[in-house]
Amino acid sequence: MSQSDQPSVRLRPEIIALPAYKQGKPAQADAFKLSSNENPFDPMPGVIAAVQAETAFNRYPDASALALREQLAAKFGVDSEQVHVGSGSVALLAQLILAAAGPGDEVIYSWRSFEAYPGLVAVAGATSVRVPNRADHGHDLPAMAAAITDRTRVVIICSPNNPTGAIVTADEFHAFMVAVPTDLLVLLDEAYAEFVTDADAVGGSPLLVGYPNLVVLRTFSKAYGLAGLRVGYALGSVAVLNAARSTAIPLSVTGQASAAAIASLAAEPELLGRVGVLVARRDATWRALTLQGWNLPASQANFLWLPTGDETAAAAETLADAGLIVRPFAPEGIRVSIGEDEAMQKLLTVTADIIESLP
Ligand code: PMP
Repeated sequence: MSQSDQPSVRLRPEIIALPAYKQGKPAQADAFKLSSNENPFDPMPGVIAAVQAETAFNRYPDASALALREQLAAKFGVDSEQVHVGSGSVALLAQLILAAAGPGDEVIYSWRSFEAYPGLVAVAGATSVRVPNRADHGHDLPAMAAAITDRTRVVIICSPNNPTGAIVTADEFHAFMVAVPTDLLVLLDEAYAEFVTDADAVGGSPLLVGYPNLVVLRTFSKAYGLAGLRVGYALGSVAVLNAARSTAIPLSVTGQASAAAIASLAAEPELLGRVGVLVARRDATWRALTLQGWNLPASQANFLWLPTGDETAAAAETLADAGLIVRPFAPEGIRVSIGEDEAMQKLLTVTADIIESLP
Protein backbone atom coordinates (compact mmCIF):
# COMPACT_ATOMS: atom_id res chain seq x y z
CA MET A 1 0.00 0.00 0.00
CA SER A 2 1.49 3.38 -0.95
CA GLN A 3 1.42 6.34 1.43
CA SER A 4 -1.46 7.97 -0.46
CA ASP A 5 -3.53 4.79 -0.12
CA GLN A 6 -3.42 4.99 3.68
CA PRO A 7 -6.98 5.66 4.80
CA SER A 8 -7.42 8.89 6.74
CA VAL A 9 -10.64 7.66 8.32
CA ARG A 10 -10.79 4.99 10.99
CA LEU A 11 -11.52 1.68 9.28
CA ARG A 12 -11.34 -1.87 10.65
CA PRO A 13 -7.66 -2.90 10.46
CA GLU A 14 -8.53 -6.52 9.63
CA ILE A 15 -10.52 -5.28 6.63
CA ILE A 16 -7.77 -2.96 5.35
CA ALA A 17 -5.38 -5.92 5.55
CA LEU A 18 -7.60 -8.09 3.34
CA PRO A 19 -6.54 -8.68 -0.25
CA ALA A 20 -9.35 -7.80 -2.68
CA TYR A 21 -11.10 -10.79 -4.32
CA LYS A 22 -8.92 -11.58 -7.33
CA GLN A 23 -10.45 -12.60 -10.62
CA GLY A 24 -8.45 -14.37 -13.26
CA LYS A 25 -6.47 -12.13 -15.61
CA PRO A 26 -8.70 -10.44 -18.18
CA ALA A 27 -8.35 -12.47 -21.34
CA GLN A 28 -6.77 -10.93 -24.40
CA ALA A 29 -9.14 -11.01 -27.36
CA ASP A 30 -8.09 -14.38 -28.78
CA ALA A 31 -7.28 -16.13 -25.47
CA PHE A 32 -9.35 -18.85 -23.82
CA LYS A 33 -10.48 -17.89 -20.32
CA LEU A 34 -10.08 -21.00 -18.19
CA SER A 35 -9.63 -19.21 -14.87
CA SER A 36 -13.09 -18.85 -13.30
CA ASN A 37 -14.83 -22.20 -13.86
CA GLU A 38 -17.37 -20.58 -16.12
CA ASN A 39 -19.60 -22.41 -18.58
CA PRO A 40 -18.13 -22.08 -22.09
CA PHE A 41 -21.48 -22.58 -23.86
CA ASP A 42 -23.32 -19.47 -25.03
CA PRO A 43 -26.53 -18.64 -23.14
CA MET A 44 -29.58 -20.46 -24.52
CA PRO A 45 -31.99 -18.39 -26.65
CA GLY A 46 -34.93 -19.22 -24.34
CA VAL A 47 -33.01 -17.93 -21.32
CA ILE A 48 -32.01 -14.74 -23.15
CA ALA A 49 -35.66 -14.21 -24.12
CA ALA A 50 -36.79 -14.65 -20.51
CA VAL A 51 -34.32 -11.99 -19.37
CA GLN A 52 -35.37 -9.63 -22.16
CA ALA A 53 -39.03 -10.07 -21.23
CA GLU A 54 -38.33 -8.79 -17.72
CA THR A 55 -38.75 -5.09 -18.49
CA ALA A 56 -40.46 -3.66 -15.40
CA PHE A 57 -37.16 -2.61 -13.90
CA ASN A 58 -38.52 0.72 -12.78
CA ARG A 59 -39.90 -1.45 -9.93
CA TYR A 60 -37.92 -3.31 -7.28
CA PRO A 61 -37.77 -7.07 -7.69
CA ASP A 62 -39.66 -9.45 -5.41
CA ALA A 63 -37.45 -9.38 -2.30
CA SER A 64 -37.55 -13.11 -1.65
CA ALA A 65 -37.61 -14.33 -5.28
CA LEU A 66 -40.72 -16.34 -4.42
CA ALA A 67 -41.43 -17.66 -7.92
CA LEU A 68 -37.93 -19.10 -8.17
CA ARG A 69 -38.01 -20.45 -4.62
CA GLU A 70 -41.24 -22.30 -5.39
CA GLN A 71 -39.68 -23.93 -8.44
CA LEU A 72 -36.60 -24.96 -6.48
CA ALA A 73 -38.71 -26.22 -3.58
CA ALA A 74 -40.63 -28.47 -5.99
CA LYS A 75 -37.41 -29.70 -7.58
CA PHE A 76 -35.82 -30.63 -4.25
CA GLY A 77 -38.94 -31.78 -2.40
CA VAL A 78 -38.73 -29.14 0.34
CA ASP A 79 -40.90 -26.25 1.49
CA SER A 80 -40.37 -22.90 -0.27
CA GLU A 81 -39.33 -21.40 3.11
CA GLN A 82 -36.49 -23.92 3.13
CA VAL A 83 -35.05 -22.25 0.05
CA HIS A 84 -33.20 -18.94 0.24
CA VAL A 85 -32.00 -17.24 -2.95
CA GLY A 86 -29.08 -14.83 -3.12
CA SER A 87 -26.97 -12.94 -5.65
CA GLY A 88 -24.62 -15.87 -6.16
CA SER A 89 -23.84 -18.54 -3.60
CA VAL A 90 -20.93 -16.42 -2.44
CA ALA A 91 -23.47 -13.91 -1.09
CA LEU A 92 -25.24 -16.74 0.72
CA LEU A 93 -21.98 -17.94 2.22
CA ALA A 94 -21.38 -14.41 3.52
CA GLN A 95 -24.89 -14.18 4.98
CA LEU A 96 -24.68 -17.55 6.71
CA ILE A 97 -21.21 -16.90 8.15
CA LEU A 98 -22.37 -13.48 9.42
CA ALA A 99 -25.45 -15.10 10.94
CA ALA A 100 -23.43 -17.59 12.98
CA ALA A 101 -19.91 -16.24 13.59
CA GLY A 102 -18.54 -12.97 14.93
CA PRO A 103 -15.46 -11.73 16.80
CA GLY A 104 -13.95 -14.46 18.95
CA ASP A 105 -15.67 -17.23 17.00
CA GLU A 106 -13.99 -19.76 14.74
CA VAL A 107 -14.89 -21.01 11.27
CA ILE A 108 -13.29 -24.24 10.10
CA TYR A 109 -12.67 -25.15 6.48
CA SER A 110 -10.34 -27.36 4.53
CA TRP A 111 -7.38 -25.78 2.77
CA ARG A 112 -6.75 -25.34 -0.01
CA SER A 113 -10.36 -24.60 -0.90
CA PHE A 114 -12.48 -21.77 -2.33
CA GLU A 115 -10.42 -18.59 -2.03
CA ALA A 116 -13.40 -16.48 -0.91
CA TYR A 117 -13.74 -18.31 2.44
CA PRO A 118 -10.90 -16.51 4.30
CA GLY A 119 -12.18 -13.06 3.30
CA LEU A 120 -15.78 -13.80 4.23
CA VAL A 121 -14.71 -15.07 7.65
CA ALA A 122 -12.54 -11.99 8.21
CA VAL A 123 -15.38 -9.66 7.22
CA ALA A 124 -17.53 -11.33 9.90
CA GLY A 125 -14.74 -10.56 12.37
CA ALA A 126 -14.31 -14.28 13.06
CA THR A 127 -11.16 -16.41 12.93
CA SER A 128 -10.37 -18.91 10.18
CA VAL A 129 -9.18 -22.36 11.18
CA ARG A 130 -7.73 -24.12 8.14
CA VAL A 131 -7.35 -27.88 8.16
CA PRO A 132 -4.97 -29.11 5.44
CA ASN A 133 -6.35 -31.27 2.63
CA ARG A 134 -5.29 -34.91 2.64
CA ALA A 135 -2.42 -35.96 0.38
CA ASP A 136 -5.03 -37.04 -2.20
CA HIS A 137 -6.35 -33.41 -2.22
CA GLY A 138 -9.66 -34.29 -0.49
CA HIS A 139 -11.04 -33.01 2.81
CA ASP A 140 -9.73 -34.63 6.00
CA LEU A 141 -13.10 -34.68 7.77
CA PRO A 142 -11.91 -36.49 10.92
CA ALA A 143 -9.21 -33.81 11.33
CA MET A 144 -11.83 -31.11 10.74
CA ALA A 145 -14.07 -32.64 13.41
CA ALA A 146 -11.07 -32.80 15.76
CA ALA A 147 -10.42 -29.07 15.18
CA ILE A 148 -13.83 -28.10 16.62
CA THR A 149 -13.63 -26.15 19.88
CA ASP A 150 -16.30 -24.48 21.97
CA ARG A 151 -15.64 -21.36 19.87
CA THR A 152 -16.41 -23.04 16.53
CA ARG A 153 -19.61 -21.68 14.98
CA VAL A 154 -19.39 -22.80 11.34
CA VAL A 155 -17.74 -25.61 9.40
CA ILE A 156 -17.59 -25.29 5.60
CA ILE A 157 -17.33 -28.44 3.51
CA CYS A 158 -16.71 -27.95 -0.20
CA SER A 159 -17.62 -30.92 -2.40
CA PRO A 160 -16.41 -31.09 -5.11
CA ASN A 161 -13.60 -29.02 -3.66
CA ASN A 162 -12.49 -25.90 -5.50
CA PRO A 163 -9.66 -26.00 -6.69
CA THR A 164 -8.75 -29.70 -6.41
CA GLY A 165 -11.97 -31.32 -7.71
CA ALA A 166 -12.05 -33.96 -4.95
CA ILE A 167 -15.38 -35.02 -3.47
CA VAL A 168 -16.45 -35.91 0.05
CA THR A 169 -18.15 -39.31 0.08
CA ALA A 170 -21.60 -39.78 1.62
CA ASP A 171 -20.08 -42.14 4.19
CA GLU A 172 -17.41 -39.64 5.22
CA PHE A 173 -20.02 -36.90 5.43
CA HIS A 174 -22.48 -38.85 7.59
CA ALA A 175 -19.69 -39.95 9.93
CA PHE A 176 -18.72 -36.27 10.28
CA MET A 177 -22.27 -35.08 10.92
CA VAL A 178 -22.90 -37.58 13.71
CA ALA A 179 -19.55 -36.70 15.30
CA VAL A 180 -20.11 -32.92 15.51
CA PRO A 181 -22.36 -30.97 17.89
CA THR A 182 -25.93 -30.70 16.58
CA ASP A 183 -25.99 -26.95 17.27
CA LEU A 184 -22.98 -26.30 15.01
CA LEU A 185 -23.80 -24.84 11.58
CA VAL A 186 -22.41 -26.98 8.76
CA LEU A 187 -22.34 -25.48 5.26
CA LEU A 188 -22.05 -27.94 2.38
CA ASP A 189 -20.88 -25.89 -0.60
CA GLU A 190 -21.95 -27.78 -3.71
CA ALA A 191 -21.29 -25.14 -6.37
CA TYR A 192 -20.21 -27.92 -8.75
CA ALA A 193 -22.77 -30.59 -7.79
CA GLU A 194 -24.16 -31.07 -11.29
CA PHE A 195 -20.76 -32.20 -12.62
CA VAL A 196 -20.48 -35.08 -10.13
CA THR A 197 -20.63 -38.59 -11.59
CA ASP A 198 -19.18 -40.53 -8.64
CA ALA A 199 -22.08 -42.42 -7.04
CA ASP A 200 -20.30 -42.40 -3.67
CA ALA A 201 -20.31 -38.58 -3.46
CA VAL A 202 -22.36 -36.77 -0.84
CA GLY A 203 -25.07 -34.52 -2.13
CA GLY A 204 -28.38 -32.82 -2.17
CA SER A 205 -31.51 -32.06 -0.29
CA PRO A 206 -32.24 -35.54 1.16
CA LEU A 207 -29.49 -34.79 3.68
CA LEU A 208 -31.55 -31.99 5.19
CA VAL A 209 -34.04 -34.40 6.69
CA GLY A 210 -31.49 -35.83 9.07
CA TYR A 211 -29.54 -32.69 9.89
CA PRO A 212 -31.31 -29.46 10.89
CA ASN A 213 -27.87 -27.84 11.38
CA LEU A 214 -26.94 -28.37 7.71
CA VAL A 215 -27.32 -25.86 4.88
CA VAL A 216 -26.62 -26.97 1.30
CA LEU A 217 -25.43 -24.25 -1.11
CA ARG A 218 -25.82 -24.42 -4.86
CA THR A 219 -25.52 -22.00 -7.76
CA PHE A 220 -26.77 -21.25 -11.25
CA SER A 221 -23.31 -19.88 -12.14
CA LYS A 222 -21.59 -23.06 -13.26
CA ALA A 223 -23.70 -25.88 -14.71
CA TYR A 224 -26.52 -23.50 -15.70
CA GLY A 225 -24.22 -20.87 -17.20
CA LEU A 226 -25.62 -17.81 -15.40
CA ALA A 227 -22.41 -16.59 -13.71
CA GLY A 228 -22.93 -13.02 -14.88
CA LEU A 229 -26.49 -12.80 -13.59
CA ARG A 230 -25.64 -13.85 -10.02
CA VAL A 231 -28.10 -16.43 -8.68
CA GLY A 232 -27.35 -18.98 -5.98
CA TYR A 233 -29.55 -20.77 -3.47
CA ALA A 234 -29.38 -22.30 -0.04
CA LEU A 235 -31.45 -25.26 1.16
CA GLY A 236 -31.82 -25.70 4.90
CA SER A 237 -33.99 -25.35 7.96
CA VAL A 238 -36.28 -22.34 8.14
CA ALA A 239 -34.74 -21.04 11.40
CA VAL A 240 -31.21 -20.97 9.99
CA LEU A 241 -32.28 -19.50 6.65
CA ASN A 242 -34.31 -16.81 8.44
CA ALA A 243 -31.10 -15.72 10.18
CA ALA A 244 -29.37 -15.59 6.78
CA ARG A 245 -32.28 -13.49 5.46
CA SER A 246 -31.60 -11.04 8.30
CA THR A 247 -27.95 -10.54 7.33
CA ALA A 248 -28.68 -10.23 3.59
CA ILE A 249 -28.39 -6.97 1.72
CA PRO A 250 -32.02 -6.50 0.70
CA LEU A 251 -33.24 -6.83 -2.88
CA SER A 252 -29.98 -8.07 -4.38
CA VAL A 253 -31.50 -10.70 -6.69
CA THR A 254 -32.82 -8.91 -9.76
CA GLY A 255 -35.97 -9.83 -11.65
CA GLN A 256 -33.80 -10.61 -14.67
CA ALA A 257 -31.70 -13.03 -12.60
CA SER A 258 -34.79 -14.81 -11.25
CA ALA A 259 -36.33 -15.01 -14.71
CA ALA A 260 -33.15 -16.50 -16.15
CA ALA A 261 -32.97 -19.08 -13.35
CA ILE A 262 -36.61 -20.09 -13.85
CA ALA A 263 -36.08 -20.39 -17.62
CA SER A 264 -32.96 -22.47 -16.94
CA LEU A 265 -34.91 -24.88 -14.76
CA ALA A 266 -37.41 -25.24 -17.61
CA ALA A 267 -34.51 -25.95 -19.99
CA GLU A 268 -32.80 -28.34 -17.58
CA PRO A 269 -32.61 -31.38 -19.87
CA GLU A 270 -30.70 -29.42 -22.49
CA LEU A 271 -28.48 -27.68 -19.92
CA LEU A 272 -27.64 -30.98 -18.24
CA GLY A 273 -26.82 -32.34 -21.71
CA ARG A 274 -24.22 -29.60 -21.96
CA VAL A 275 -22.94 -30.59 -18.52
CA GLY A 276 -22.55 -34.14 -19.86
CA VAL A 277 -20.39 -32.80 -22.71
CA LEU A 278 -18.19 -30.94 -20.23
CA VAL A 279 -17.91 -33.99 -17.97
CA ALA A 280 -16.80 -36.15 -20.91
CA ARG A 281 -14.30 -33.46 -21.90
CA ARG A 282 -13.03 -33.25 -18.32
CA ASP A 283 -12.49 -36.99 -18.08
CA ALA A 284 -10.83 -37.19 -21.51
CA THR A 285 -8.51 -34.30 -20.62
CA TRP A 286 -7.69 -35.95 -17.27
CA ARG A 287 -6.80 -39.21 -19.05
CA ALA A 288 -4.62 -37.41 -21.60
CA LEU A 289 -2.79 -35.47 -18.88
CA THR A 290 -2.24 -38.67 -16.91
CA LEU A 291 -0.76 -40.29 -20.01
CA GLN A 292 1.58 -37.30 -20.33
CA GLY A 293 2.87 -38.17 -16.84
CA TRP A 294 0.92 -35.68 -14.72
CA ASN A 295 -0.08 -36.97 -11.31
CA LEU A 296 -3.33 -35.07 -10.96
CA PRO A 297 -6.36 -35.85 -8.80
CA ALA A 298 -9.52 -37.15 -10.46
CA SER A 299 -11.92 -34.22 -10.67
CA GLN A 300 -15.67 -34.27 -10.16
CA ALA A 301 -16.09 -30.60 -11.08
CA ASN A 302 -15.67 -28.51 -14.25
CA PHE A 303 -11.95 -27.96 -13.71
CA LEU A 304 -8.71 -29.88 -13.24
CA TRP A 305 -5.88 -29.36 -10.76
CA LEU A 306 -2.33 -29.44 -12.08
CA PRO A 307 0.14 -29.87 -9.21
CA THR A 308 2.93 -27.66 -10.59
CA GLY A 309 4.50 -26.89 -7.17
CA ASP A 310 7.31 -24.33 -7.23
CA GLU A 311 6.98 -24.06 -11.02
CA THR A 312 3.38 -22.79 -10.74
CA ALA A 313 3.99 -19.16 -11.70
CA ALA A 314 6.25 -20.06 -14.62
CA ALA A 315 3.83 -22.72 -15.91
CA ALA A 316 0.89 -20.29 -15.72
CA GLU A 317 2.95 -17.77 -17.69
CA THR A 318 3.73 -20.38 -20.37
CA LEU A 319 0.03 -21.21 -20.63
CA ALA A 320 -0.88 -17.51 -20.84
CA ASP A 321 1.67 -16.99 -23.61
CA ALA A 322 -0.10 -19.78 -25.49
CA GLY A 323 -3.45 -17.99 -25.05
CA LEU A 324 -4.74 -20.03 -22.09
CA ILE A 325 -5.68 -17.97 -19.03
CA VAL A 326 -5.65 -20.26 -15.98
CA ARG A 327 -5.70 -19.75 -12.20
CA PRO A 328 -2.33 -20.24 -10.49
CA PHE A 329 -2.15 -20.94 -6.76
CA ALA A 330 1.59 -20.69 -6.13
CA PRO A 331 3.39 -22.67 -4.86
CA GLU A 332 0.87 -25.50 -5.08
CA GLY A 333 -0.70 -25.81 -8.47
CA ILE A 334 -2.83 -24.50 -11.29
CA ARG A 335 -6.59 -24.79 -11.69
CA VAL A 336 -7.76 -25.10 -15.28
CA SER A 337 -11.46 -24.82 -16.11
CA ILE A 338 -12.94 -27.18 -18.68
CA GLY A 339 -13.61 -24.90 -21.60
CA GLU A 340 -14.03 -25.17 -25.35
CA ASP A 341 -12.78 -28.33 -27.06
CA GLU A 342 -10.17 -26.27 -28.91
CA ALA A 343 -8.94 -24.85 -25.60
CA MET A 344 -8.48 -28.35 -24.17
CA GLN A 345 -6.54 -29.50 -27.25
CA LYS A 346 -4.30 -26.46 -26.94
CA LEU A 347 -3.87 -27.12 -23.22
CA LEU A 348 -2.62 -30.64 -23.90
CA THR A 349 -0.03 -29.37 -26.38
CA VAL A 350 1.35 -26.91 -23.82
CA THR A 351 1.22 -29.26 -20.80
CA ALA A 352 3.24 -31.84 -22.76
CA ASP A 353 6.03 -29.24 -22.97
CA ILE A 354 5.63 -28.04 -19.38
CA ILE A 355 5.95 -31.51 -17.87
CA GLU A 356 9.24 -31.99 -19.75
CA SER A 357 10.61 -28.87 -18.06
CA LEU A 358 9.48 -29.77 -14.51
CA PRO A 359 12.29 -30.85 -12.19
N1 PMP B 1 -18.49 -21.92 -3.94
C1 PMP B 1 -17.48 -22.38 -4.67
C2 PMP B 1 -16.77 -23.61 -4.22
C3 PMP B 1 -17.08 -21.72 -5.84
O1 PMP B 1 -16.05 -22.18 -6.55
C4 PMP B 1 -17.78 -20.56 -6.24
C5 PMP B 1 -17.43 -19.80 -7.50
N2 PMP B 1 -16.13 -19.77 -7.86
C6 PMP B 1 -18.83 -20.13 -5.44
C7 PMP B 1 -19.17 -20.82 -4.30
C8 PMP B 1 -19.60 -18.89 -5.74
O2 PMP B 1 -20.27 -18.93 -6.92
P1 PMP B 1 -21.43 -17.90 -7.24
O3 PMP B 1 -21.34 -16.78 -6.26
O4 PMP B 1 -21.19 -17.47 -8.62
O5 PMP B 1 -22.70 -18.66 -7.06
